[in-house]
This record gives sequence, C-alpha cells and structure tokens, in this order.
Amino acid sequence: MARYTGPVCRLCRAEQKKLVLKGERCKSDKCPINKKRPAPGKDPKARPGKRSDFGSQLREKQKLKRIYGMQEKQFHLFFERALRMPGITGENLFVLLERRLDNVVYRLRFAVSRSQARQIVLHGHVLVNGKRVNVPSYLVKPEDAVEIKERSKNLVVVKDALKEFGKSGVMPWLQLDPDGMKGKLLAAPRRSDITDLADIKEQMIVEYYSK
Ligand code: SF4
Repeated sequence: MARYTGPVCRLCRAEQKKLVLKGERCKSDKCPINKKRPAPGKDPKARPGKRSDFGSQLREKQKLKRIYGMQEKQFHLFFERALRMPGITGENLFVLLERRLDNVVYRLRFAVSRSQARQIVLHGHVLVNGKRVNVPSYLVKPEDAVEIKERSKNLVVVKDALKEFGKSGVMPWLQLDPDGMKGKLLAAPRRSDITDLADIKEQMIVEYYSK
C-alpha cells in the first residue's frame, strides 16, 4: 500500500495543528507550527475563508488519520469496525486506533514517533505475549504483554526513545518496565483518557463517513 513519503511537517501545516509526527523536533522551537508557518500554498496575509460543514468534517478525519499514520482504506476499515461495535462509534474508533501495535509501541516509549514505532514492528523487533508480531495494525488486547525482543534490546533508537521519554511515564491504560523494555495493556482505553487528542472532534468524523 502506497504511503505518504513527503515531508511530514507539511501535513501539520496543512491542518495548522501539531500532529506530533517527528518526536523530539515537535517539542522544539524548530517546529514550523511553533513558528506559525502558514499552510502550504497559502498566502500568510490572506484572510481565512469560511469552511463548509463537509470541509470541516474532512479536515477532522484527515487529522486523525495522519496522527496514526494510516492510509484511507485502512482507516475506513477501522471506522467500519468501530461502527459494528456496541457503544459510541467515535469513541470506539479511538479505542481501536489506540490498540494498534505500532501505537502501543509508541505509547510505551519504545519509539519517538508512531512512524518509528511502525518501523520497529515491521522489522520484527517486537514480541506480543512472547511471540514475534510484525504487523503494525495488530490489535493488542487487555493483559497482552508487549516487549522488545531480547536480541533487539541494544537498538539505539529504542534506548534513546526510552531515555528521552521513559521518565515522563505512560498513559494510564498501560504499564511499563523501562529496564526490561516490556509493557502491558492493562485495559482498553476510554476516550476521556486520551487527553493529548482531546481536541479531535470524532463526531465530525462519524458524520463525514455517514454521508
Ligand atoms: Fe508537526 Fe512535529 Fe513537524 Fe511540528 S515538528 S510540524 S508537530 S511533525
């Protein structure tokens, strides 16, 4: 499946929001959003035009899809699955996205970004319940153990990510043993727990796909 390989900061500029796609740089002054760079192709002096409902719903969907580094087809499949689950579709979508193995690896601080986590998974460095899983979209279940394979524990990217972010703790639905490079999904997250994405309006994404 073709993936976006262009400059990722451009995606943030298009949404005029920090999608946090680059790890450490996202927190620095070098971030183009911190520098208030305009959207690509937009005149910085131009007055913002009024967006249609559809345009706003589309942008919200694009933001979430890009944050989790997904292509449209797979994102839509996740939405369809969320729709079939009992409960609120938008919240179900978040729960499914958070359970993706690449996301769990990122949230456990084994990688500085979801794209780096995806590479770590694809290259077979991650075990789930002791078995190698190299599928980034694999859905981790509550009580599943996720760890870096013994032979991969010397990986500089993982060590650096843990050194950089390990001390700031993990989300409440996860448990991390940084020295052992292992963690666990304690429970499926609730939407209200996903505080760093609190500003995403998932209902607009539901409306976008309901048309
Ligand atoms: Fe987005 Fe990070 Fe680039 Fe800033 S540095 S524009 S948050 S990817």
